[in-house]
Amino acid sequence: MLKWICTALPIAALGCYDAVGTLKAFYQAIASHECEKAVALAEGYSLERCQNIAKLKLGESITVVSDQADKTVLKFKVTYHTKASSEPTTTEATVILKQMDKQWKVDFSSLQTVADKEPPARSDEKPKEAKPAPIATNEPKPEPPATPVNQTPSLLSLWQPEQLQGKAGDEKIHWLRSPDFLPPSRTQPNEALPPLKPDYMNSIRRVKLPSDKKWVALTFDLCERADEVAGYDRGVINALRDKKVKATFYAGGKWMQSHPEQTMQLMADNLFEIGNHGWTHGNLRVLQGEEVQQQIVWTQAEYERIRDNLEGKAKAAGLENLMANVPHQPAGLRFPFGTCSPESLQATNSLGLSAIQWDVVSGDPAITVQPNKIVQETRAGSIVIFHANGRGRGTAAALPRIVDELRAKGFEFVTVSELLASGTIEAVNECYELRRGDNVDYDAKYGNGMVRVKKPKSKPKPVPAPETVTPAPAQPTL
Ligand SMILES: [Zn+2]
Repeated sequence: MLKWICTALPIAALGCYDAVGTLKAFYQAIASHECEKAVALAEGYSLERCQNIAKLKLGESITVVSDQADKTVLKFKVTYHTKASSEPTTTEATVILKQMDKQWKVDFSSLQTVADKEPPARSDEKPKEAKPAPIATNEPKPEPPATPVNQTPSLLSLWQPEQLQGKAGDEKIHWLRSPDFLPPSRTQPNEALPPLKPDYMNSIRRVKLPSDKKWVALTFDLCERADEVAGYDRGVINALRDKKVKATFYAGGKWMQSHPEQTMQLMADNLFEIGNHGWTHGNLRVLQGEEVQQQIVWTQAEYERIRDNLEGKAKAAGLENLMANVPHQPAGLRFPFGTCSPESLQATNSLGLSAIQWDVVSGDPAITVQPNKIVQETRAGSIVIFHANGRGRGTAAALPRIVDELRAKGFEFVTVSELLASGTIEAVNECYELRRGDNVDYDAKYGNGMVRVKKPKSKPKPVPAPETVTPAPAQPTL
């Protein structure tokens, strides 16, 4: 495997270095604006951050702070300026590098500046946390927040309001020149889910509720294939927060890996819950055996790894008791493309995950989302599917009206877990959009689902420059 990757994939080949070599290769890639290489060499680092760097130089001295078999902490200096800054910034920082399958990766989310020349902490003061280095980002980093006196404590206080709001361009989808099929740093979750209750088995489409409950679950898929870094549609999340609407997000494992901060923010928000949407949006009617397991289990493990990081942040801010509200594992899975085989449905349920489909399709890959149609089709106990990864192009604009009109009709918004626990689950033994067999042609359209299926070219197109990232075309992916 390693030999094949080291010789066959030019980007991953850089991962064939040792830890120090990988750190150098990572910063060299940023310095030379080879952002796809940089992203391939680091977890929790985005193309956008890299593209924000005008110049960068890594200091020659790199110190090994600690060295274990598969984890090394390195200390180094880096001087850079962002495109927005005129003056260079020099930072001394530590970062963890992790080895998996004999390849090293920079864990960018672990990066911390070294607090130098700090006055010694007074005995009645807590030692000051090292602040994360602002390398390759123009976002302000948060101070550990003080909990306001008259406000319910929330894990969301770990971020400043403007960080929760996101920034323009977050919703953009970037294509990678080479698909990223690397496994995550954690491939098995430490905790398993309990066995699934019999009435949670099969492909769940909606819930029959008692007559006094007019509940609906809005769901948003965060799909990310191997050959892209998908977006974060802040307009959707901000509209839900603004209107205090509970919702469920089905996140791809690779999406969580490339959006660790936003994943933590969604986890931290009591309005939201996160489900599993496969590692690289694999079509689980086409994939078999080990590949089915990887799509599901790697995503569970990545959720858990990011939850651990959130727990670390919460502890540092004295908010660890609030972690009890954050599930240890996603409890539900949405099949990419809404497609499953008897084998993958069985694999999902055997892992303790419920398979969550829908009975109302928003059709939101199209720009013309029709609020009236969605409101008309929604019944008590419905599950509605949208996107929040940049592919729901009209969703954020349509959402406030959909929410207002459903509320006017007496609907309340709940998470999928709450919906399932409140009535009789309606499930079938196969997966489809609205009618049996209506998504079978996706197998031919999208293949195994993990990369774009290229259409035959009518005439040759100019090859874009290496730095150019082309926005992905809209397509009806689920
Ligand atoms: Zn999807």
